[in-house]
Amino acid sequence: MFLPVINLQRCVACGVCETVCPTKAVTLEQQQAVLSQPEACTFCDRCEAACPTEAISRSFAIRFAPSSQPLTKAQLGQLNLGDR
Ligand code: SF4
Ligand code: SF4
Repeated sequence: MFLPVINLQRCVACGVCETVCPTKAVTLEQQQAVLSQPEACTFCDRCEAACPTEAISRSFAIRFAPSSQPLTKAQLGQLNLGDR
């Protein structure tokens, strides 16, 4: 899980993220959104969904499930990976 990242260039200090955060992990301090209690973040994504300027977001990781069978050529083609 990744903590939210705040882009201060986009933040307009509206305080919506602080309002929707259920644990007050993100707060508004000195006219800036701050992840003041990162340990309290539950990764609920409410701040990202509510931010009007897309200033706060969580990155994500793609995990591939283990597979006992390799993908077929047709399946690889559907992934649109180009020539490899
Ligand atoms: S909701 Fe977005 S723009 Fe508003 S204070 Fe939070 S990060 Fe900044
Ligand atoms: S992901 Fe959820 S708990 Fe974490 S800072 Fe955003 S609203 Fe708060």
